[in-house]
Amino acid sequence: MSLTAFHDRSTRISCIIPQCPRSALRSLFPNADEIICGRCWRTVDLSLRERYAQLKKREKRLERLEQLKALQHRHFGVSWSLLREQQRKNWATIEADAYAKAALGLEGTAGAPRGKRT
Ligand SMILES: [Zn+2]
Repeated sequence: MSLTAFHDRSTRISCIIPQCPRSALRSLFPNADEIICGRCWRTVDLSLRERYAQLKKREKRLERLEQLKALQHRHFGVSWSLLREQQRKNWATIEADAYAKAALGLEGTAGAPRGKRT
């Protein structure tokens, strides 16, 4: 495989950090418009990443509740619009934080498993 094919935009999504050469297979993230690679992700403040995980958990719970609701015709008062808005804000903050860290030239080791810190 040539390098050009590896960076083919139709099969890969580039990391949101412009100076970062990494990308991910589009097929692994079918619903994603943007991705942030693991190395850049680890430069983002831990509190923002924890918030991201919390919102992701809420999303999964909402999906489960919706299935239950469909099965049992119940109303749980769940709000996708609120969750999507929270996720959008969280992602925008993560993006800004990752950009700032990249501008400072930081490497993504913060929050990595202890054994992998250098
Ligand atoms: Zn990156």
